[in-house]
Amino acid sequence: MAEQILIVEDEADLAQTVAFNLEQEGFRPSVVASGAEALERIRSDQPPDLVVLDLMLPDIPGTEVCRQLRQGPETRRIPVLMLTAKTDPIDRVVGFEVGADDYVTKPFSVRELVLRIRAILRRSEAGAPAEPESLRFGILKLDYEGHRVWVEGAEVVLTALEFRLLKTLVHRRGRVQTREVLLNHVWEMSGDVTTRTVDTHVRRLRKKLGAASIYIETLRGVGYRFQSEPGKTGEP
Ligand code: CA
Repeated sequence: MAEQILIVEDEADLAQTVAFNLEQEGFRPSVVASGAEALERIRSDQPPDLVVLDLMLPDIPGTEVCRQLRQGPETRRIPVLMLTAKTDPIDRVVGFEVGADDYVTKPFSVRELVLRIRAILRRSEAGAPAEPESLRFGILKLDYEGHRVWVEGAEVVLTALEFRLLKTLVHRRGRVQTREVLLNHVWEMSGDVTTRTVDTHVRRLRKKLGAASIYIETLRGVGYRFQSEPGKTGEP
């Protein structure tokens, strides 16, 4: 069944263009023009599979909508793609702090938007079933069972923590991962670690991965993103 995409945008022309294109791509889009309507729709008994959320809305900011979604047990897993404008007073970093999965900066191409939506949906589907025993990603190979990693056929020895970090990055590939999210997933928020710890470990992991380290992109001031496909960078 086609995925339901909720577009939250008060600029009617833009919302209609996006909706039209998503429909052409086989999705089932619907449009609301305010944060309140968005929350109501998402909390209904037919929540969307993904939300395209504009940052600047007439009633409440997109960041607040996102924050509220992330707090609700029923809505916390619904992926959010944020629309931002270069002129927005709120830094896009804030979007990730409140739990957006990705962002697109206006003006954007609809093609770019569709690619991002597909990537996010693929990840969230991949997150549901049991994980595969091994994974090949370009020159990188992971053996989940044995906790082993190879780069260009040569085994790389990682600590248990480094393996968990890599696994988390790979598992959520194509999505922006803030240091906070990584702390949650990898360190499970043990009290004495800080976001600086994340940077230190990513640096060590990159060094060990050598040529495969290019798959881990740094989003300055935000966090990290593992490429969705080998050689395909996330930035438009
Ligand atoms: Ca707007």
